[in-house]
Amino acid sequence: MRKLREIERRDAEERKRQERREAEEQKRLEALERKMHSKPYANDTAFLEELRTLLEETRDATLRQIATSEAEASEMLVDRERLEYDDEDGSSVASDIQRDQLKDFATALRLKVDEIEVALSRIDDGSYGRCDECYEPISQPRLRAQLPVFTCVSCRASV
Ligand SMILES: [Zn+2]
Repeated sequence: MRKLREIERRDAEERKRQERREAEEQKRLEALERKMHSKPYANDTAFLEELRTLLEETRDATLRQIATSEAEASEMLVDRERLEYDDEDGSSVASDIQRDQLKDFATALRLKVDEIEVALSRIDDGSYGRCDECYEPISQPRLRAQLPVFTCVSCRASV
């Protein structure tokens, strides 16, 4: 009889511990949820506007770079058509490689423009400056130096 009460008491304690663990887990999840939706610089409008200007300038400069490399690539295409008639030194192959490089470069730049657009829309909703990996704020110097940036310095290596 005493043994049975002892077992019941232990069960009750175990249940209590389990409930405490679940409550802690719930709190942890709620904190994470808040962090995932945090807007670290939403109250610092001047800073976000500064970043908006920097991002827009970078986007416009990148668009100009894209236009330049595309113009170069099509100029090379015109040259290449002339080269084909007289291709003993393989210069048309060299020209193809260079043109491919220019196109790859333009593609990478276009990706950057897309990322800048994402950053700008996140400035609009106030979430820009939150690390995509750990949800902590990205430092102001890092945000100014890298346009755009979506991870903090500690998460950078793991991306
Ligand atoms: Zn991070």
